[in-house]
Amino acid sequence: MIRRDLIKAMALFPLTTQAMKLQELKKITDTFGNSSKMPVFFIGHGNPMNSIEDNPFTKSLHQMGSSVTVKPNAILVVSAHWLTKGTYVSTAPQPETIYDFGGFPAELYKVTYPAPGSPEYARKVLEAVPGSKENKDWGLDHGAWSILKHMFPDATIPVFEMSIDYSQSMQYHFDLAKQLKALRNQGVLIIGSGNIVHNLRMWFAKGDEKPYDWAVEFDEWVKDRILHQDYDSLIHYEKKGSVATLSVPTVDHYVPMIYSLALADTNEEIKFTYEEVFTAASMRAFRIG
Ligand code: ZN
Repeated sequence: MIRRDLIKAMALFPLTTQAMKLQELKKITDTFGNSSKMPVFFIGHGNPMNSIEDNPFTKSLHQMGSSVTVKPNAILVVSAHWLTKGTYVSTAPQPETIYDFGGFPAELYKVTYPAPGSPEYARKVLEAVPGSKENKDWGLDHGAWSILKHMFPDATIPVFEMSIDYSQSMQYHFDLAKQLKALRNQGVLIIGSGNIVHNLRMWFAKGDEKPYDWAVEFDEWVKDRILHQDYDSLIHYEKKGSVATLSVPTVDHYVPMIYSLALADTNEEIKFTYEEVFTAASMRAFRIG
């Protein structure tokens, strides 16, 4: 709350007792929420089993969550696991935990992330993105809850998702994401959740976790391009040749990173919060701002 609003709020209660003033003031500050500029994250989410494990990656998620010192009004997740024709924004008031995978241990299907939705901020996204449509049912897929479980374990911040239009180009996604920039100043924490390198076929074909050389090379190249703010090369990543096509056989897990990068302001600091490549997946994560 800025000082001007505080003075205005105090002026509303000139005749009440000091105790009542403070009580009413708290109500008012709660409804104002926060308007500080929120950071943006990109997170390589990997295996959904991470949601119930304690390892260096999940520890880094805890740190990322606690590094957000001003509580967001809402969290918007752009997940690799909500692909649609057209762009949809979920306005579900109480999003369900979606188990969008098969063959995992029973305990994984018991994990829930009962955060409320945010129809209010979802509507702001619908207004900001021309042509986007409302979806009233979509809950939280594992691209969202498996990481939020560690980042914000108390599940009190409202969460909603925006889908990825799978029929569109990388440039389209980059331009679309820019429309969301203003939300950063309205207390919305935006998270892209995918994996920079994600080749399941090559992952399963290998008997150990030692990374493929091409996976390491592509992940390092992406890191270097991010540090140079050379987003154009990342949009046209396929020009990098075979290391790129092996690392990004389908674009679903790569696109969320493009959303996160499009939200960076020029010269804004980008900090890598986690780096790991195993087999054919990169768990690289970063924070912007
Ligand atoms: Zn995934």
